[in-house]
Amino acid sequence: MKIIGVGRNYVAHIAELKNEKPDAPVVFLKPDTALLRQNAPFYYPDYSKDIHFECELVLRINREGKHIKPEFAFKYCQEIGLGIDFTARDLQEKAKEKRLPWAISKGFDGSAPVSQFVPLSNFADNKNIGFHLLVNGQKRQEGNTSQMIWSFAEIISYVSTFFTLKVGDMIFTGTPAGVGPVQIGDRLEGFIETKKFLDFEVK
Ligand code: MG
Repeated sequence: MKIIGVGRNYVAHIAELKNEKPDAPVVFLKPDTALLRQNAPFYYPDYSKDIHFECELVLRINREGKHIKPEFAFKYCQEIGLGIDFTARDLQEKAKEKRLPWAISKGFDGSAPVSQFVPLSNFADNKNIGFHLLVNGQKRQEGNTSQMIWSFAEIISYVSTFFTLKVGDMIFTGTPAGVGPVQIGDRLEGFIETKKFLDFEVK
């Protein structure tokens, strides 16, 4: 099982980090050891002082495929959940400065809490799915798939050009604006539409 991340897929988030709008999706990987399930707590690691939350919709692959055309994407992906793409922003900034890979800043242990998955068919229009994140009860991020630069189908198609997608693989589809640091003791609650998908603590 692999976890694929897409960066810079919401215009407002690109602006807040002062990044350039890319001409293709920015893709990175997290190892399976990044995964946290069933609302397990996130333990703040000692090698970073600036871990940021990035709340994202996560797709789950249900059928193996490669070179998937966008119009066939949903034959390969039928489930959606919610995740946090935890990012060690200080380590990522160092990597960006030195033009080094993001691997440790994005892929460290526990950096991918993921909810249960539900059928994509639960939603009338996958280009109009709302989601939001509360930190300690305060709304910090809010997004809608209508704001994505690349749609689910385009993301699946693009990443399958390079990586064969296998059953159980997960794709983080990018974060909207509002990312920020977490502190030990914070409680994160994530929702798709009005249904709670994530509820865990930072320890
Ligand atoms: Mg992200």
